[in-house]
Amino acid sequence: MRTLFFEAEYRFLRKDGAMRYLADKGTILRDSKGKATRVVGAIQDITPRKSYEESLKALNTELALANSKLEASNKELEQFAYVASHDLQEPLRMISSFLGLIERKYATILDEKGLQYIHFAIDGARRMKEIILDLLEFSRIGTIAGTKKLSASSDLINEVLLLNGKLIKEKGAIIHLGPLPDIHCYVNAIIQLFQNLISNGLKYQEKGNRPEIWIEGHEYESEWKFSVRDNGIGIDPEYQDKIFIIFQRLHQKEQYSGSGIGLALCKKIVELHGGKIWVESSLGAGSNFYFTLAK
Ligand code: ADP
Repeated sequence: MRTLFFEAEYRFLRKDGAMRYLADKGTILRDSKGKATRVVGAIQDITPRKSYEESLKALNTELALANSKLEASNKELEQFAYVASHDLQEPLRMISSFLGLIERKYATILDEKGLQYIHFAIDGARRMKEIILDLLEFSRIGTIAGTKKLSASSDLINEVLLLNGKLIKEKGAIIHLGPLPDIHCYVNAIIQLFQNLISNGLKYQEKGNRPEIWIEGHEYESEWKFSVRDNGIGIDPEYQDKIFIIFQRLHQKEQYSGSGIGLALCKKIVELHGGKIWVESSLGAGSNFYFTLAK
């Protein structure tokens, strides 16, 4: 006995004007000579499933639209940050150099207060320059030129440690390196990422504490996962998402200097590599920053 299956979907307009969708399935039973003897089948009302599929499709289209709008506004914002930070550099240079001139030329005429005001103004201009440069860096990262390269993450980290050599020595910091895999990445961006995490680990310490930083990475099926852990002041869990947002800082500049761009930049770099970044920490217990990079 042979069987044959058939399957069809169709819609029909009911007397009351409602459209219903049906799925029709059937099997033809045949005798030994192949002659059809019976049909066994079932008809199922699939209208709810159809309308669910339709709403899912509409939702998808809506999401795609919202996504492209978001992408466009992100690009615009990046462009704005780039132009603003680029164009602000020139007038700022002018302010700084004339303040410097006043300080040098008129130091003898000015009283103590006057000198102090100029000092404040120069310090403000210096910090503004730092912010502008960071912002410029931030707006550029999405459009970095070049291609991904296979690199030994230990080489990239050693480069960062070399860069921070003076500070590490001054603070007597101890750096522990665990296993560090080869990764496929935008080399300069990853150096920048480690630079920000390591320099934060050195910076956010109680006065007089000897900084210790543990760095390691592991390879998994679809990603690499790294951690940069320190024995610093730690971060209140309440603020652990906030710190990855641009210009969000948890401390006054007098306490710990910085512009609040570093971790936002880290997030951007990690996302550029299809990964995630997060922190596990509590106040006074050090911080452990994790990030992944997609393969
Ligand atoms: P910046 O260091 O310039 O302020 P970041 O974006 O690098 O900017 O960091 C944002 C905030 O997150 C910092 O102001 C600090 O409060 C907190 N933070 C970052 N790294 C650490 C760390 N390793 N330990 C404790 N707090 C940290």
